[in-house]
Amino acid sequence: MNSHHPDTLTLMEFSAGNLTEPHALCIRLHLDQCADCRSRVDTLDSLGAVMMENQPQTEMSSGMFDSILSKIDSDDTDAEREVSTAAKAGKRASALQKLLGDDLNGLPWKRQLGDVSVLDISDRFPGQNEQVVLQKLVAGGKAPSHTHRGEETTIVLQGAFADQKGVFNQWDFVVLNQEDNHRPVAVGCEDCITLSVLSAPVKLTGTFSRMLNPFIR
Ligand SMILES: [Zn+2]
Repeated sequence: MNSHHPDTLTLMEFSAGNLTEPHALCIRLHLDQCADCRSRVDTLDSLGAVMMENQPQTEMSSGMFDSILSKIDSDDTDAEREVSTAAKAGKRASALQKLLGDDLNGLPWKRQLGDVSVLDISDRFPGQNEQVVLQKLVAGGKAPSHTHRGEETTIVLQGAFADQKGVFNQWDFVVLNQEDNHRPVAVGCEDCITLSVLSAPVKLTGTFSRMLNPFIR
C-alpha cells in the first residue's frame, strides 16, 4: 500500500483533464497501483459529469466544495486490499513500459558525480515546456543536499528513498517546492529510480553544487 498520494486538488485537475501530459502520466502511474486514489478519481469523474449535465444552474458554493472534498478524503474503500495485491504482483504500469521499455536499469543513464545518474526524457513529450527527468540513486547512496526553485512532481518507479519527510516507496507520489531542502537517501537493496516533472531547475545547496546540478533537478 502506498503512503504518499496526489492531493485531492491534483486529482480534480487530472479528472478534469487539465494536467500536462507528463504530469498526467505521473498520476496515471500512481493510479495504476493505488485503488484508493482510483476510487477518488471515479468519484470526481462522476461529479464532473453531474456538474456538466446541470450547467449552468449548478453554481458550486464553497460549502458544497468543502463537503465534496471531505467526502472524497474520507472515501476509504476496500480498495486498499486491491492495492496491496497489485503491489505484490510487482506489475509495472503499461504506460511506463510503452515509454521506457522493460529494463529501467538498462537505460542510457548519464552518471553524475557520486551516487546519482540522470536521464532527461523531455523529448518524449514534444510540445511540452516542462522538463521530464529520470533519476537514479544507487542502493544505499545519498543525493547531495538541494532545494527546488519551482515545483517538482515525482513518482518512484523502482526501489525507495527516504528524506526528512519520510520513506517514499515504489509508486509513491510527492510534490516538492521551494520550501523543501532535502537530501534523499536510497533505502533498501535496489537502486532507486524516480520520474520527475520540473517546472523550474533545482538549486543545489551543498558543496559540488555546480558540478552536480542535474540530479536532482
Ligand atoms: Zn494513491
